[in-house]
Amino acid sequence: MCGNQKETPMMKQYREVRAGLPANTLLLFRLGDFYEIFGEDAQRGSKLLGITLTSRNGLKMAGIPYHAAENYINKVLARGIKVAICEQVETPKAGKLVKRELTRILTPGTTLENSQLDAISNHYLLSFFLQKEQLQCSWLDISTGTFQIASSENISDLFSFFHSLNPKEIIVSESQKALLEMDSNGQATYRSLWQQLTSNRLISEIPDFYFDQTNALQRIYDTLKVYSLDGFGIGKAHPALGCAGALLHYVAETLCHPAENIRQLVEYRCNDHLQVDLATQNSLEIFYSSKRTRNGSLLAAIDQTVTPAGARLLADYLSAPSKNLGEIRRRQNIVKAFISDSSKILPIRNCLREIRDISRILSRLQNRLRNPRELGGIRDTLENLPQIKSYLENIPCENIHEINKRIHCLPELETLLLDALNQELPSKINEGGIIREGYDSNLDLLLSLSKNNKKWLLEEEKSEQTSTGIKNLKIKYNNNFGYFIEVSKNNLSFVPAHYIRKQTMTNAERYYTESLKEKEKEILHAEEKAQFLEEKLFQELVEKILTETKLLEETAKALAEVDLFLGWALLSRSWDYCCPEIEDSDILDIKEGRHPVVEQHIRQEENGLAGSQAFVPNDTSLSSKERQIVLLTGPNMAGKSTYIRQVALISLMTHIGCWVPAKSCRIGLLDRIFSRVGASDELSRGNSTFMVEMNETANILNNSTTKSLIILDEIGRGTSTYDGLSIAWAVIEYLHSQSSEGPKTLFATHYHELAKLPEMFDRIHNYSVAVREWNDQIIFIRQVVEGAADRSYGIQVARLAGIPDSVIERAKILLNDLENNNKKTIFKKDSKYDFPKNDLPSSISLKSEHYNQQLQLF
Ligand code: ADP
Repeated sequence: MCGNQKETPMMKQYREVRAGLPANTLLLFRLGDFYEIFGEDAQRGSKLLGITLTSRNGLKMAGIPYHAAENYINKVLARGIKVAICEQVETPKAGKLVKRELTRILTPGTTLENSQLDAISNHYLLSFFLQKEQLQCSWLDISTGTFQIASSENISDLFSFFHSLNPKEIIVSESQKALLEMDSNGQATYRSLWQQLTSNRLISEIPDFYFDQTNALQRIYDTLKVYSLDGFGIGKAHPALGCAGALLHYVAETLCHPAENIRQLVEYRCNDHLQVDLATQNSLEIFYSSKRTRNGSLLAAIDQTVTPAGARLLADYLSAPSKNLGEIRRRQNIVKAFISDSSKILPIRNCLREIRDISRILSRLQNRLRNPRELGGIRDTLENLPQIKSYLENIPCENIHEINKRIHCLPELETLLLDALNQELPSKINEGGIIREGYDSNLDLLLSLSKNNKKWLLEEEKSEQTSTGIKNLKIKYNNNFGYFIEVSKNNLSFVPAHYIRKQTMTNAERYYTESLKEKEKEILHAEEKAQFLEEKLFQELVEKILTETKLLEETAKALAEVDLFLGWALLSRSWDYCCPEIEDSDILDIKEGRHPVVEQHIRQEENGLAGSQAFVPNDTSLSSKERQIVLLTGPNMAGKSTYIRQVALISLMTHIGCWVPAKSCRIGLLDRIFSRVGASDELSRGNSTFMVEMNETANILNNSTTKSLIILDEIGRGTSTYDGLSIAWAVIEYLHSQSSEGPKTLFATHYHELAKLPEMFDRIHNYSVAVREWNDQIIFIRQVVEGAADRSYGIQVARLAGIPDSVIERAKILLNDLENNNKKTIFKKDSKYDFPKNDLPSSISLKSEHYNQQLQLF
């Protein structure tokens, strides 16, 4: 505010609202048809949104039109900045300060609006609290009402799980943040976990008292409308309730009222799930490819859903793979039944395409975001349910019938919505056009009145034109003056005496007559009444829908399952997947396994490239007591990483209940999958490749059990040959020698010396990816065979990569000398090699060419 200027009442109102908000929040203050931003906010907002910054009496201002606000708000949120909205909450009256209230604080983790949500992703808000050696946490997706808690001593497991949840916002208490960011005091491990989790995510600091356990409990009871948590199997002393309460507190603050759509609190127990740490999530490209895109990930490869809720359910399954045999088999059975009755797959999917995102619509309706179009969404969904139900009823599978029981048709609600709503609906309540003609006689009457009046106006215009002889006389309407007769200046002499002058324009005069004034009252009254009545009828429909919330939510969940399993059925059929046998044993036995993502990628390429090669399947057999460790050798590019990853991915897919790319598969329940493959994005955080590799390896050695599956690719590569070889050697020995059984391990390496290990240890076995030589060239045949590789073929692979021939020739000479320990020749000063100028590679590794060569050979 400018120094001496007296503050206006409106600015006082603004200042009071602003004072209650954190500094990093942009306050949009409603002023008529605009949202105004003032002061420092205006400066920041104008830059962020590219809008003009003005100044009045020394106060900086910027404004955005009310109708276009959504786009601007989305832009701000996408930058991780919160937006507070202060609305006018009464009709403005001349000379009186209009009442305004904070109606919403939009944050990336609490947003409900469709345009701010990614349809196929969960939008979690996460809170956690580190206490002694225990991590307590809770997460909530307000857009669907999913609400969970967990508490565990295994802090890094939970942090890995958080990554898979991919929260859109994290709330943390002020003291916790300080603790986690601290350099010393023995929290170094937590500090790096915290840094990893919070990079590129919005962190909201909240006061410590939000986490208070006693207040939290009451808040949870109030929000869930329960008197105890026994029904959810959660004791009232559960250590994570403070975090759950903090979430509800924060959400109520941002919604400006308590959340209305949360009905259930579910406990997540780490031990019930197969654990996949962050390094493994990244190296197996479960949620994102190495390029950080969804495309190229396992998630994308096995997602054949047609509804957003189905896609979100898949993400949930993948972030919490199950260790429950019954649940895994239930999912498999359903897929099997859909495959056996495959004529139903497409018709049901066609119905599913017509249904809307019920749980998100319900969360908006419950939290007072009411858009008429969404009621149409519920109607359209209900219309499709009987058909879906009858298809499901006729599939002979108990598990499908159980899902079907959770789909509720609600015929009364359907009829009501069909009768009440127009087919095409507006997106705003006050635009009219929501209620169907014939549904409410009073509304029909009012609408016909205003329609007839419009007709009357046209007739009146004609009759005035005739009686006055003024051909261009017009009856018009505007918000300020209502209805009026407009006569152009050159016709003023024809204006009759009973016209009363209202306004003078440059080229025309505006008048009204007594009868026009009467009619205006009638019209406006009817329109206002119609709008009021329509809104009332709309609210009644919303209330009717909300009385069925529980059944509708159950239906939405069941439909998401149907969608996901149908998608898997389709996937399994198109890619010839098999149903893995899952059991509580020590076995991992895969016949003709394939990599689910590489296989699809190759097929896509195959469509574009003549002569490209199909994916070559391979077998795997591991057990913790006998064939515990497989040492896999073979040249670069042979397919080692692909092979070991495919084993890990097939195992993971089995634990989410999906069928797998193999001829047959038997897998004993696993507790963890570890993968140490290639360099990770840790490098950008300043850690060397070797350090990252050793950290990850340490994690594996410290946390693996006989129930774990480990895949290791080229460990020890980041240091000198002998260091690397010794570390790799010791790691394998350690994994083997802890007891008479150990974690099932696939170890891909180019250290051929390791091939000696099977001679010394019973449970270590040599395998290699076979290649053939042809005219001094290497041909990849992608077959995994028993026995170690004889050579590394590095020079041949280098040739394929396009290294010039002269460099290849020189490398061959050096290799020969090195292998024969001929140091004298290598290090002789005058033995410099004479490279020809402009040397080009003879065979540039164009894929088609390379594949064609291979084809010729077979
Ligand atoms: P390595 O780890 O031995 O260096 P990769 O596993 O990275 O080799 O494989 C190199 C390329 O070979 C992959 O990108 C993939 O396109 C192809 N490939 C690997 N395994 C197979 C297979 N079984 N069938 C067909 N192509 C494969």
